[in-house]
Amino acid sequence: MRFKISTTLLISFITMNVSLSTAEEIKPIAFDYKKQSTEFWNSVLAGETYEVCRNAGTEPPGSGKLNNFYDEGIYYCSCCGGDFPLYTSNTKFDSKKGWPSFSASLPGAVIERPDPTDQIKGLVGMGKTEILCSRCESHLGHVFNDGPKPTGKRYSINSAALTFVPKGQQPKRSYEIIRK
Ligand SMILES: [Zn+2]
Repeated sequence: MRFKISTTLLISFITMNVSLSTAEEIKPIAFDYKKQSTEFWNSVLAGETYEVCRNAGTEPPGSGKLNNFYDEGIYYCSCCGGDFPLYTSNTKFDSKKGWPSFSASLPGAVIERPDPTDQIKGLVGMGKTEILCSRCESHLGHVFNDGPKPTGKRYSINSAALTFVPKGQQPKRSYEIIRK
């Protein structure tokens, strides 16, 4: 009797394992942008976008293609392929600072944190607030408290980190994701 039960349990266990591994093969594995290597980002991002997104670079003021640009549409994160929406043209304004500026981010689109570079300089609590994409955690720019009402925010974002898609059009991925 004891042997019978053990055999039944063993068979159930094996069956369960087989069905689990089959399910894993069929189910698409969610791609985690936050866990990708430097080599991955180097292989999918163009030089300027790589510098901004992965090295927290800042493009020279007035140099970005989206600085003086006010067409209607949506701005997506260039760093994770151009299909994750961050800002809309409704909140874009001319800050005269030299970078594309928005008064609000789309809900849940970005992460705000004290700029780590300022922390290294000992400017804790006095430094800038860095803006990261919430999907890939790439650097996008900074946010300041001198924006227009009602938010009073100025999201200063590098053009290289943004992909603009005109109103009524769908975003297109700029690179293929390798599923691992
Ligand atoms: Zn992103």
